Amino acid sequence: MDLGGTYVKWVVIEEEGSSPRVLATDRVSTDTSRGERSVVEQLIHLARDSSRDLGPFVSVGVGVPGLYDPVAGTTRFMPNVRGKWAGVPVAAQVEEALGVPARLINDARAFTLAEHRLGAGRGANSMLGITLGTGVGGGLILGGGLYQGHDGTAGEFGHQTILPEGPACNCGNRGCLEVLARADAIVAACGQPTVEESVQAARAGDRRAQQGLTDAGSYLGIGVSNVMALLSVDRVVVGGGVAAAGEMLLGPLRAELERRVFITDVSLVDVVCAELGTWAGAIGAALHGAGAPPAFG
Ligand SMILES: [Zn+2]
Repeated sequence: MDLGGTYVKWVVIEEEGSSPRVLATDRVSTDTSRGERSVVEQLIHLARDSSRDLGPFVSVGVGVPGLYDPVAGTTRFMPNVRGKWAGVPVAAQVEEALGVPARLINDARAFTLAEHRLGAGRGANSMLGITLGTGVGGGLILGGGLYQGHDGTAGEFGHQTILPEGPACNCGNRGCLEVLARADAIVAACGQPTVEESVQAARAGDRRAQQGLTDAGSYLGIGVSNVMALLSVDRVVVGGGVAAAGEMLLGPLRAELERRVFITDVSLVDVVCAELGTWAGAIGAALHGAGAPPAFG
């Protein structure tokens, strides 16, 4: 399940050998009517109903849009889902209701895992996954596996500092990549109501929209350049709703890489669009739920 501020998306996956198969997908509007309590109840109902129709399940994975404690299975901070999320034992409640192991994962890490196993990242030994939308998320594949750090927070691509005294970010820092390249920052820079209309305006020759998209792509490129300098990943996969801007963002992103990275040959690094679309987060959560527990701490 992929818990979002607007929708809960879910998929059912059957794993046979090394090729997981998607059996079903669906989504419902997130029920935040009673804050975090109604959301967790909704997750349990969705899992129970789909288990009755398509199960029995052997595991459940839940992707969450924020930070969580991977050992306790509790949420820590989810600014875009209504409710009081500090310390909510989501994994334990789902486990108790379903009677199978349940694990949490950050939604952008879930996207990265799914694209690596089944999408545009297939075959990459190392990969940076980037999700562009309401926020700017990220995930890292290193040595062929998802790297989560000691507490599940590794790969927070959007919270690296790009402008030292830039605008304040929700995370507490200033000038994070996220505040410069998330959807509402792009539309503000382009002077358009939506990202889609910003792209249309830029294609029609609107100078302000062209500059807004170029700037966002360049900021993203600076962020990817920093990642290249540190980790020299061999593939970068860009997804999320804003990635529909395609080359309008990826062109300036690649130009920035060529302008800034000299320690490795960036012409050998593939910067590509994601392949799995809207279900990537749910697919990755399911794969994570079925995987071997990572060692933390
Ligand atoms: Zn931040």
